[in-house]
Amino acid sequence: MARLDLRPNCECCDGDLPPDTPDAFICTFECTFCRGCAEGILAGHCPNCLGNLVQRPIRPKGGPTGGLGRFPASEKRVLRSGGCPATPDPTKANEVTAST
Ligand SMILES: [Zn+2]
Ligand SMILES: [Zn+2]
Repeated sequence: MARLDLRPNCECCDGDLPPDTPDAFICTFECTFCRGCAEGILAGHCPNCLGNLVQRPIRPKGGPTGGLGRFPASEKRVLRSGGCPATPDPTKANEVTAST
């Protein structure tokens, strides 16, 4: 079953984001940020892909699929080297083609 990578920290400020926090925000690539960064410097957009950030859904501890007991949150911390730049311009996202 495909499942979300519940990362344990904010990619910008390295703040802790436990799997049950309502203050975690992600993009479609699962880049993960805290509320302070997402609503602050990032202005609701991922600095990596310029996609919009939405509140990360919370995986329950148990339930029919086994929840966190069976599919624990990721323990691999991802930190953006050099921190986060000032707000990228999301209107440019559709004009830029990746060169890599
Ligand atoms: Zn942060
Ligand atoms: Zn992203």
